[in-house]
Amino acid sequence: MTNSAGDKMVTKIHDKWYDLTEFEKLHPGGPVALGLAYGRDATVMFESHHPFTPRGTLDAILRRYELDESSARNLKTLEEQHGIPDHPFNWKSDFGDALKFHVKEYFQAEAKRRNVSLVAATKATPERWFEIAMLGAIFVSTLVSFVCGEWSSLLTFPVSAWLFSVNTFHDAAHFALHRNWRINSIVPYLYPFFSSPFAWYHQHNIGHHSYTNVGHRDPDLVHYFWFKREHKSVEWKQAHKLQRSYIFQTTWWVMAVEAAIATMNDLWMVVYGVYNDSVPMKQVSRKRMFCHLLGRVLVVGLIHTWPFFVFNSWIRCIIFAKVPVMVYSFLFMMNTQINHLTPETAHESHEDWYKHQVVTAHDFGVNSRFCFLLSGGLNFQVIHHLFPTVNHCHLVKLQPIISRLCEKHDVEYKQVVGYIAAIKAHHRHTVDMSSSSQGSEKPISTS
Ligand SMILES: [Zn+2]
Repeated sequence: MTNSAGDKMVTKIHDKWYDLTEFEKLHPGGPVALGLAYGRDATVMFESHHPFTPRGTLDAILRRYELDESSARNLKTLEEQHGIPDHPFNWKSDFGDALKFHVKEYFQAEAKRRNVSLVAATKATPERWFEIAMLGAIFVSTLVSFVCGEWSSLLTFPVSAWLFSVNTFHDAAHFALHRNWRINSIVPYLYPFFSSPFAWYHQHNIGHHSYTNVGHRDPDLVHYFWFKREHKSVEWKQAHKLQRSYIFQTTWWVMAVEAAIATMNDLWMVVYGVYNDSVPMKQVSRKRMFCHLLGRVLVVGLIHTWPFFVFNSWIRCIIFAKVPVMVYSFLFMMNTQINHLTPETAHESHEDWYKHQVVTAHDFGVNSRFCFLLSGGLNFQVIHHLFPTVNHCHLVKLQPIISRLCEKHDVEYKQVVGYIAAIKAHHRHTVDMSSSSQGSEKPISTS
């Protein structure tokens, strides 16, 4: 048996191989979630996606599908096939056990209070759905104004699109929106203008969340790394000196979604079979790949061409095709780059995965409703990374629990007061990385 396309759904967890083909229809998280594990070492995703399921239940299921030694002998993970270095974590963790115990305790009380299951208690609450409905209504109204060519919509449309998408796309892609996996699987396809869900699962779920700030494993460290250096694992070049200025940073922030995430990163992944040299692409059928590429061509094509069919003025056509994408990109970058890429977090690491997630992230504005709303809860980055399947609406209440446990277990929990402090911290990091003195022994070659 091999783990190439069209074969069985094999995956490796804690150094053992499993054939989960039969389990695909039974998996409570649905086939999309299970598919992320296809062919690869899925230990981190397995652990981080089942924090509240009793260990005995998980072990019993795995035992049913474990491959015997002779079947597993010749299997290689996708990472091994692509020469991507292994990065194991230590999963025996008192800190991790305490986190899971206390957070589960919180949700057990919530489940009892709301008379729902434990899993349902961790997803969006009715109040959260009301917020989402309001944001959706605002998004649709600004979309109408935008299509009608109202100048004010150049700002209101991308801002409402950001708020609507960050409060839904992100949670849905983490299977945290609803307990029904079908809803979680469909919602990301409502916002394909930002990233294809297929690429996003690779970049965010499989790569960034599992191996946060780990060189050669976290794809977010190497977006356009030949002119923007974010990590010591990237070889320094003269061009990196440019990133010292705020003008450079702002220019990059308004370009990044369109230049990298929505287009080229996706295309390169399909061509080379690896996302940003860090995450091997899931092997899919030709039909699925054709649909993926057709979808990208249609979405990117539509965003750039529709104004030319509606407006007479060329200038207006270009403005309506470009400005909203740039505003959206700026908001995306402003809310995502400040969470892990700072002098205090970028090069931290720990062999304990739970501690690793705390030391490589920091929160901002945890007492600010404005920060929560504008970031869609990304300001609670530490907790989100520890419990990615928990909807962001719960993170405000979980923050004191996590903060207290970090203190008790002597794990440094980092936070700053708000956006300005967080952006400044990110800029300090960007300046640090522009210097040739910040090197490493095993850099990614940019030549
Ligand atoms: Zn996330």
